[in-house]
Amino acid sequence: MNGYGGTILRVNLTDGKITKEPTPAQLARDFIGGRGFGIYFLFKEVPKHVDALGPENKLIISTGPLSGMLAPGGGKCDWTTKSPLTGGYADASMGGHFTAEMKYAGLDTIILEGISPKPVYLFIDNDKIQLLDAAAFWGKGAIDVEVELKHKYGEEYQVAAIGPGGENQVLYACINHDYGRQAGRGGVGAVMGSKKVKAIVLHGTKSVVVADPENYHKAGLALYKACKDAEGLAEWSRYGTTVVTSWCNEVGALPTRNFSAGSFEGIDQINGQAMRKEIVITDKGCFGCPSPCGKYSNMKRYNTQVEGPEYETIGLMGSNLGIADIQVVGEANRLADDMGIDSISAGSCIAWAMECYEKGILTKADTDGLELKFGNADAVFTLIKKIGHREGKLGELLALGVNRASQQVGQGSEKFAIHVKGMEQSAYATHNATAMLLAYMTCDVGAHHNRSWAITYDLQVGREKVVPEKVARIIWLQNFRPMFDVMGSCRLQWVELGIDRDLYVPLLEAITGVKRTWQDLEAVGNRIWTLTRMYWLRENDGFDRQWDLPSPRFYTEPPKTGATAGQITKFEDVQRLLDMYYEQRGWDSHGLPTPATLDTLNLTALVA
Ligand code: SF4
Repeated sequence: MNGYGGTILRVNLTDGKITKEPTPAQLARDFIGGRGFGIYFLFKEVPKHVDALGPENKLIISTGPLSGMLAPGGGKCDWTTKSPLTGGYADASMGGHFTAEMKYAGLDTIILEGISPKPVYLFIDNDKIQLLDAAAFWGKGAIDVEVELKHKYGEEYQVAAIGPGGENQVLYACINHDYGRQAGRGGVGAVMGSKKVKAIVLHGTKSVVVADPENYHKAGLALYKACKDAEGLAEWSRYGTTVVTSWCNEVGALPTRNFSAGSFEGIDQINGQAMRKEIVITDKGCFGCPSPCGKYSNMKRYNTQVEGPEYETIGLMGSNLGIADIQVVGEANRLADDMGIDSISAGSCIAWAMECYEKGILTKADTDGLELKFGNADAVFTLIKKIGHREGKLGELLALGVNRASQQVGQGSEKFAIHVKGMEQSAYATHNATAMLLAYMTCDVGAHHNRSWAITYDLQVGREKVVPEKVARIIWLQNFRPMFDVMGSCRLQWVELGIDRDLYVPLLEAITGVKRTWQDLEAVGNRIWTLTRMYWLRENDGFDRQWDLPSPRFYTEPPKTGATAGQITKFEDVQRLLDMYYEQRGWDSHGLPTPATLDTLNLTALVA
């Protein structure tokens, strides 16, 4: 098949059996790759209601047709599973150089099944595929393990590894790669840990056949040229995602002290300029990236290094914890990476615990003596390690995620647990930004921003407006943006450099030999989105519109300071947003796709 590795690899960890099967052509036609393949296998093969950390769940790693190819940012793969954090659908996109090697090893998808009787790592060198003893690596930090495995095998081998957080099944544990890239959200690292897989090491040298080499070359170069000529390239490459930090603060979207406000008085100590001036030592990009957003940093005070922090970590581990010091944020980022826990979820859990402490809901008896006030850097460092090791009362509690933790603690703390469907909200405060709020409410993994980043759109059209056009915009973004995760490439060249998306169409065609317009691709995006919704419905009895509600903070507690002081979204507007969204999606008033919608999207047989 043009543009594909051609093989699905299955690794049964329970009995050690490793098998290969050809990638079905029909699957490539209907779901293209990446998270499309992921949800297909998850829905079809993982039985209903399985324990996300049990042997029947699967961890599905998929490349797409642009992965490893002449495509700007063609270094993305997708990790799909049933989420132990939310009990619903999870997928996490990972950059770096893993994906290209996976494709060159001839693999479109790796499916990890069962549970190994002892810690192992999966070693792949083209057709040599083995499960090897990981006893020497178990218990070590994710970055240390990557360094050791690269020493053992060589720099050309790519490593994806879990840290103690994954081993201990922290429900938002992530998978680390390339010394600082992650498959970050939803607990994919906990699933890998539950299977007792410490790492995957891989290297490939096979060719990928493309349908039309001449036009492939032409279309690839046109995309690179557009990136090189883009006006915003220099600034983006200098600051990466931190480019938005000061802007978010100005418009009241920067999460501050557990999202109680959207502007932070210490902004100048944690924004992109502070980061660049104080800690950045070099830029770092994924495979084939002409616009590297990664920043490698040195925290002189701690004599430590990290890739990052990027905007999300600055938001969740900086302003949201009341920390006005970029060196502290960098060190917290490094600790979270080494523990192998998602810095967004960890930051949100710690912020919630700090608010509980300041309100007297948690005391020193609950915090193992920690003075858990906003701004206490030492307490943050200690807690990150405690969470990774599930150590002490509070480490154990926060390892469960903010939703479960707040339900255990009660006393009204549920109202300021900032999540949707159990996933902690990423770094945009949404007191008065109705499109972004809807994006979080309806995102298919929980409160994550990357499916439909709409905060600038709110500002353009009027942040408090609740109109059908806003809803239509969110749905368009949800169908369109995740298609980059399906194709196996980065979306940031389109988002940040403004590259014409039509340039991707001839490239995809030249690689696969299949002619598709963006309209066709968005139809695939819609099919995938709807299937993920059906997965939530299948796995959770009583699933309905209540699950789409945001944290009450955004409709009951106006911030006292900053650009959004005194502003909230009214609860009736939250409900109106949902009504319009369901109607435009072809879902019923409970938020469930109707039989007619399933039929139109050719999903009836698959979900039956
Ligand atoms: S823009 Fe950033 S995430 Fe995207 S490919 Fe480049 S380095 Fe990777």
